Amino acid sequence: MVFGQDKSSRSWISLICVLLLHCIEETTCNTHCSRPLSRIVRNQLTEHFYSVFQDRNHEPHSKCPLHASRDLYRIQEGNKTQEYAAKWVCHFCGKAFFSEHHLDVHFDNKHSDKLVKGSTVCLADFCDIFRCDVFEVQRKDYFWEKKLCKEDKLMVRKRRCEALMRSCLPQGNLSVGEEFEILETIGSNTCSLLNCKDYWKRPHNDISAWKIVLYAVVSPFFCMGLIVYYYAIWDYYYGDYPLDTKRSREEEESFSTFGNYRSTPSHLRKRYGERPLMY
Ligand SMILES: [Zn+2]
Repeated sequence: MVFGQDKSSRSWISLICVLLLHCIEETTCNTHCSRPLSRIVRNQLTEHFYSVFQDRNHEPHSKCPLHASRDLYRIQEGNKTQEYAAKWVCHFCGKAFFSEHHLDVHFDNKHSDKLVKGSTVCLADFCDIFRCDVFEVQRKDYFWEKKLCKEDKLMVRKRRCEALMRSCLPQGNLSVGEEFEILETIGSNTCSLLNCKDYWKRPHNDISAWKIVLYAVVSPFFCMGLIVYYYAIWDYYYGDYPLDTKRSREEEESFSTFGNYRSTPSHLRKRYGERPLMY
């Protein structure tokens, strides 16, 4: 009897342990790496980091933590498309979702096997360097943050940032000048902003070339259209029309018969010339 109780309590304990382990595993899987924050870092890397290497036909060092191949969510992010504002499509199975968040949840639930295997790099871990707090909440005023800013803390971040960027310099023989130029360029939108003066600056969004062409073509037509429209209105009300005096007298008489014209205020008669108002 005692033996039986001991056996059942053991099985209960082991069941509880398995459940706890499962819960812990699931919690860490779902929350250990924030997708939205990783996205903020990834967008900045695409814009200001990978492009610098591509322009010079180089690749970041394979051991660089920011190397695209080490991004935990790289495969999943490459298999999503925003077709229009409220349609996000999963390329693994073709399902569509109203928002990117719902697609992310779908990736977690259905395609967790599509994470980069063996990668421990969560881009969200670099948020302090890539200023995710500035990009996450779009605000115009950072009055108190600026007042309470500690320059020495940001200096420590800056040193870490510079060490990180140095670890990403391409493999192979680069001249000192080339290394310096690459570090300067990739650091200008990251490490250089880690001080109390520049921390809250947002990068200028360059307008793409096709938008400039579109504006250049459409704007003159739009301006011409506006000018023609206002000229037509002006001409209609104030233009100097030769009036058919006989017809206008008849019209005046017909209006006066019904009492309409006499009731028209004198300033409107003046405004619309001698033409009768058509109601
Ligand atoms: Zn899917």
